[in-house]
Amino acid sequence: MKRLLHQVKTYVFPPKSEAELPEAPVLAPADWQLAIDRLQQWSTKYGHAPCLPGRCNVCGEASAFFCKDQALARESYTCGACGTTSRYRALAHGVLRWFAEELGVRAESLAGLREHKLPRPVRVYDAQLPFYYNTCSYPLPDLLAAVEGVQVQCSRFRGADPLGAPIEGREQVVNPAASNQNLERLTFADSSFDLVITSDVMEHVRLDALAHAEIRRVLAPGGAYLFTVPHSRAMAATTHRVVVRDPLDPSQDDFVMEREYHGDTNDPENAALSFRVYGTDLDDTLRDLGLQVDYTFFPFGGVGVANGVVNTELFYCKLPA
Ligand SMILES: [Zn+2]
Repeated sequence: MKRLLHQVKTYVFPPKSEAELPEAPVLAPADWQLAIDRLQQWSTKYGHAPCLPGRCNVCGEASAFFCKDQALARESYTCGACGTTSRYRALAHGVLRWFAEELGVRAESLAGLREHKLPRPVRVYDAQLPFYYNTCSYPLPDLLAAVEGVQVQCSRFRGADPLGAPIEGREQVVNPAASNQNLERLTFADSSFDLVITSDVMEHVRLDALAHAEIRRVLAPGGAYLFTVPHSRAMAATTHRVVVRDPLDPSQDDFVMEREYHGDTNDPENAALSFRVYGTDLDDTLRDLGLQVDYTFFPFGGVGVANGVVNTELFYCKLPA
């Protein structure tokens, strides 16, 4: 136990320089006392991977973020308490930023939003269903739906099912509601949502220009589109793995690179084809739609480290009121 304590109180992935260290300790000793009983259990569950102490901005717990491989940081640094990854907490960072900037509601975590009274109703669309696996969870839609005054709609896409249809087995669930949606042709009315969230989805959408326009269409003035996506800031132009010759005819799609599939947490039986890796021209696409693009990279030791958001990015795109 002594060794374990030492492990969680130390940066197992040491910052390269003093300058990368956070200004304040990430957790007060008293907070660690709260988590101490659970540390052994968490450590076993995550294969005794190195961990970083901090407070989770999703579940709000004093926690430890477990990471076996720094190269996989954005999909790792998993919260021992709630199972969210660094990337999911980057999205939570964006959600909390929007609530603070737009509504004046300042909460430290999504779970903590429940204690606040909102000045007006908030409508959220998340293109990811919530899920809870043993060592990875996506509770964002459920936590937001638990806030009084927040209405959440989430979705997944199956081409064979009618668009807009409630997802099988979830018909009775009102908040978060869930329906079958094609991002290229959303069934929602204009200006339906204050927040739209996509989580590593856009690289899998065949006609992404249509999808971005659709997201802009359903976003209400003053709303924000928050997302993560595989991309490179060092690359101006998007790399197309698949060239779409005729938008109406997928059979003519030209696979100019080896086909790459990513696991689809919305649909584990069907891995999703990756169409592209974005460059910074993505910013221009979004700006042309009238969105204010604010890209943030959270480095190790940066502003997100206390929440276990490290080596991860977030696009925060506001539609002016
Ligand atoms: Zn957590």
